[in-house]
Amino acid sequence: MKSHQHPQAHPQQELSALTGRLRRQARKITGPRAAILEILRHHPHPLANKEIFDAMPRGGCDLATIYRAMHLLEEMGMVKRFDFGDGAARFELVGEGEDGHHHHLICTRCAGVVEIDECFPSEVESRIAAANGFKGVTHKLEFFGLCPECQ
Ligand SMILES: [Zn+2]
Ligand SMILES: [Zn+2]
Ligand SMILES: [Zn+2]
Repeated sequence: MKSHQHPQAHPQQELSALTGRLRRQARKITGPRAAILEILRHHPHPLANKEIFDAMPRGGCDLATIYRAMHLLEEMGMVKRFDFGDGAARFELVGEGEDGHHHHLICTRCAGVVEIDECFPSEVESRIAAANGFKGVTHKLEFFGLCPECQ
């Protein structure tokens, strides 16, 4: 998968800080978990399980281990799951104390990803909530189109 460089991206986190978060939650830092965090730390966009697997050191672990590890890291709030509509769950590191809420712009030809900082004004959610009698309304949203190189 091709990734467009994005100057903003997310501030890169120290691996020691990440493994410290694992430790504080009394989780073992298995070799595969540390390797997964290291891969995600160096990747500014969400990665699918298979992409994480492909980036692992040779013989690091099997795909099932990655699936289990990502499930655990998601439960711990260390990664956020994103859906680009192709049936593959993708994961991105979340900063400590953040909810990781943001959006992506995805090229439908080369699968390049741009991190998007803009979000719906909260009035839209308030209006939708009020009109339907809902509370705690949130949203998930990704944008799709053709990147400059693919036009
Ligand atoms: Zn992102
Ligand atoms: Zn493209
Ligand atoms: Zn949003």
